[in-house]
Amino acid sequence: MPSLSKRTAGFTDSVIRRMTRISNKFGAVNLSQGFPDFDPPSEILRRLEQVAHEDFHQYSITWGAQNFREALARKYEHFSGQKIDPNGEIVVTCGSTEAMMAAMMSVTDPGDKVIVFSPFYENYGADTILSGAEPIYVPLIPPDFRFDADVLEAAFRQHPKALILCNPSNPCGKVFTYDELKTIADLAVKYDTFIITDEVYEHIVYEPHKHTYISTLPGIRDRVIQCSSLSKTYSITGWRLGYIIASPEVIDTAKKVHDFLTVGAAAPLQEAAVTGLGFGDEYYKGLRAEYTEKRDLFLDGLDRIGIPHTVPEGAYYILLDISEYGYEDDLDFCEKLAERVGVGAVPGSSFFKEPENRYIRLHFAKKNETLNEALNRLENIKKLMSK
Ligand code: GLN
Repeated sequence: MPSLSKRTAGFTDSVIRRMTRISNKFGAVNLSQGFPDFDPPSEILRRLEQVAHEDFHQYSITWGAQNFREALARKYEHFSGQKIDPNGEIVVTCGSTEAMMAAMMSVTDPGDKVIVFSPFYENYGADTILSGAEPIYVPLIPPDFRFDADVLEAAFRQHPKALILCNPSNPCGKVFTYDELKTIADLAVKYDTFIITDEVYEHIVYEPHKHTYISTLPGIRDRVIQCSSLSKTYSITGWRLGYIIASPEVIDTAKKVHDFLTVGAAAPLQEAAVTGLGFGDEYYKGLRAEYTEKRDLFLDGLDRIGIPHTVPEGAYYILLDISEYGYEDDLDFCEKLAERVGVGAVPGSSFFKEPENRYIRLHFAKKNETLNEALNRLENIKKLMSK
């Protein structure tokens, strides 16, 4: 058999998705892969039923259906204050996963450097490998996950083509402040670098924190390539609807990359999701209130049990400190946790460049009853997981 591509030789499977399979095997409450177990908004589902009987079964325009892009441009303007052209500044993709990959392919060549904050969402590693780019990691330092501006500038001095910014952050729950974003934006201008964002948790932010779109900072807009999706905002992770918002020059190229990668996102699902893009402020307030309640319920439970943890400012992930259990390998810990305690988690090491073994990641995008069941099981963690 001929050899397989060198490009994929360093690949492992996704640890996040692997933990879902392990959770299922042991019948664990799966708090590893971040997706809800509650229903999407009923208005979207009702529209989906109608769409089945309408004329949306063939390809939409490759860079996204016209009404979807128009609805998205209106929603984006409402929340960011920035007007965008739905015809020239948006590509609709198959989830933000494709958006990020298409963004990377549009701006980097093999050998180009890309700054990635660590901890990072595991796809960014794969994105850089697939596009042949080389990551430069800049630590976000626990417990508050701030970065050292001098270390960041040292990374910029290597003349990276792009920086990847996940805000609000998966897995550490950081919401970048305006001042932090300004530091990043100023460096991007000084060293002539693109900023590729992953803003899928833009609407899941806890008071008093606020999400700032880095593209709205002065003088930066043309170099920001924003990737986001409808997955988390409307609880439809399986619909795979994402998008890129960027300057017409970048979008021109991203359209071509996207066209050859996937042709287009699912036409009937785009049509049904237009309903969600038209929701008023109440919906987003409700979403925030619901996630705030879940966060507090889960954190209170962890405190009662006595497990040290991060307090997320945004997104729906918590890092739990497992150092007291004395495991050398956090993957081993997570496998035993699924088997003995019955809760699925992701080993923290899959998010860190640094040799970090003291965290596991849980998420709380679940019904309260699911979270309570997970907490009941975690009551036994000290007894069952001690060596
Ligand atoms: N973003 C989610 C997570 O980090 C889901 C990842 C995925 O499987 N696409 O868990």
